[in-house]
Amino acid sequence: MTTSPDLNAAGFDTLGLAAPLLAALADVGYETPSPIQAACIPVLLAGHDLLGEAQTGTGKTAAFALPLLQKIDLKRAVPQALILTPTRELAIQVAEALQKYAHHMPGFHVLPIYGGQSMVVQLRALSRGTHVIVGTPGRVMDHLERKSLVLANLQMLVLDEADEMLRMGFIDDVKWILEHTPAERQTALFSATMPDVIRRVAREHLRDPKEIKIRSATSTVVTTSQSYCQTHSGQKLEALTRILEVEDDFDAAIVFVRTKTATVEIADKLEARGYSVAALNGDLTQGLREQVIERLKAGTIDIVVATDVAARGLDVARVSHVINYDVPYDTEAYVHRIGRTGRAGRTGRAILFLAPREMYMLKLIERATKQKITALTMPTPGEVANRRVAQFTQQIVDIIKTEKLDFFFDVVRRIEGENDIAAREIAAALAWLATRERPLQMPGASDHAPRETGSTPAVPPAPTPARDFERKPDFKARAKPAESYPAVEPRRERPAGRSDTPVKQRSFADGATMQRYRIEIGRNQGVLPKEIVGAIANEAGIAGKDIGQINLFEDYSSVELPANLSDDLMDILRRIRVRQFALKTRVMEPGEFVDTRPPRRAAPARDGKKPDWKKPDGAKPEWKKRER
Ligand code: AMP
Repeated sequence: MTTSPDLNAAGFDTLGLAAPLLAALADVGYETPSPIQAACIPVLLAGHDLLGEAQTGTGKTAAFALPLLQKIDLKRAVPQALILTPTRELAIQVAEALQKYAHHMPGFHVLPIYGGQSMVVQLRALSRGTHVIVGTPGRVMDHLERKSLVLANLQMLVLDEADEMLRMGFIDDVKWILEHTPAERQTALFSATMPDVIRRVAREHLRDPKEIKIRSATSTVVTTSQSYCQTHSGQKLEALTRILEVEDDFDAAIVFVRTKTATVEIADKLEARGYSVAALNGDLTQGLREQVIERLKAGTIDIVVATDVAARGLDVARVSHVINYDVPYDTEAYVHRIGRTGRAGRTGRAILFLAPREMYMLKLIERATKQKITALTMPTPGEVANRRVAQFTQQIVDIIKTEKLDFFFDVVRRIEGENDIAAREIAAALAWLATRERPLQMPGASDHAPRETGSTPAVPPAPTPARDFERKPDFKARAKPAESYPAVEPRRERPAGRSDTPVKQRSFADGATMQRYRIEIGRNQGVLPKEIVGAIANEAGIAGKDIGQINLFEDYSSVELPANLSDDLMDILRRIRVRQFALKTRVMEPGEFVDTRPPRRAAPARDGKKPDWKKPDGAKPEWKKRER
């Protein structure tokens, strides 16, 4: 069976899902099933085995999780479903998704089990009883051999990312597990690709499976100029606003997101940053939807944040930009989206945000649109400031050309004479006054003025060498220190039967240069500095002595760690989870860190005593010294 995105797709309520699941989907703001969901859910609910060819990002987790949950008998706390995943990160992610979709199923319990986690903890959790197990093959095998996991009541088995399990050498473990589970179970196998080995497993272990594949491309030649920007989800909003500032010919934009909730959330955030914006989603009545479109046409709003379905057929000539804030499920949805710009003979511009793990979409879209998608880096604060200065300069030039300024000449002359102030100083003060609401400089930009532009003020000046530090550092090209840090071995599960080994400690030279890293968890998530230290030390093997100052902010924190960490180590640091939040660690950009501590009054005591950071007025400082 082959499916294509159907923009007239019916909602989840037509797929046969039970009320508690529909309620959970409404909570998370999913509007319509993704193509893989629309195709898989009825097949799985009907009890068929399934062979699904789908990548991450297509919504495949919900495609198997929802029917699986529907079949769970909550009264029996025994494993009724098993999901095998190649990595512990995916196991945790899938378990979290199940928990989310089971929000209205009281008493539901899912347990992730994976290598690297203490056996004792897992044995205790297993003995308490659970409805669903999500695990990595090695550890599941371990428990089956120990009989700490009994699958006699298993109804459903899902193999998620089967080709990854093959690539990581788990396929024999997977086959072993398949052979040690009840034959009458229902089995679903998902894989991004279908190499022969996977097909063979499917032939041997699946019963007359329905094959579901998302048709990836009907190629269409598009005239829209397309770019992509690789960015982590925490940076998308900043990237969006900076890009909109420096884009040429920006008139109006449609920003595409996946959920109804996200349309409102992103619209609110853009509004707070001064944009005229509205959300467009399936919850709006037809009348309200038309009102939003009319306001976009009339120019009372410039940005609409929409889901695919809500923006269907939207035809507004002034839409100069389509922003794929969340990646579409497939190339056809992408082509539909970018068709919202470049209307009425105008040229359109499409920008796609991709997280590193979504980069595979790039090639697919290039193939489908028969066009190269150029890379775009997030503009630096300096580049944004240059653009603002150029626009400001143009306004001044235009005013001098068109307005009668005699009265104001007199005012300036009087200020000069009466206060002994030079005209240039007066002009600077007036520039400050005129841009107070929307400062020319972004927080984090250099204090230096942009390079003088001579007689062509409208052209944004290039950064001077002195401002080069504002450029986004090229992390890949950066030289590593002489003794580069030991490469991290790829994390594999341990073979069955061996005891847990702690993560190897890395050694850094004494006095290694430190750098500030940003992590996406902060005070609002209730994190304690000691939890951050514990997670980094245990998971990444960085010794406590190599972890410097930690500053907690509302929704993120900064941590000092040795500079120039290897890519492998950064990869681990990005994925570490604290209180269920992935740290998504990244190097902070120059100027990004704003130290909220009060100024130091005395040199820090070297004898181990705490330096006195207290504010003179006795108020508590907003930072915390790291507790161990
Ligand atoms: P997956 O391919 O399962 O990793 O899902 C990718 C992302 O899409 C996840 O963040 C899901 O929460 C989101 N998602 C899945 N299905 C839908 C849907 N029907 N509507 C909106 N977002 C969805």
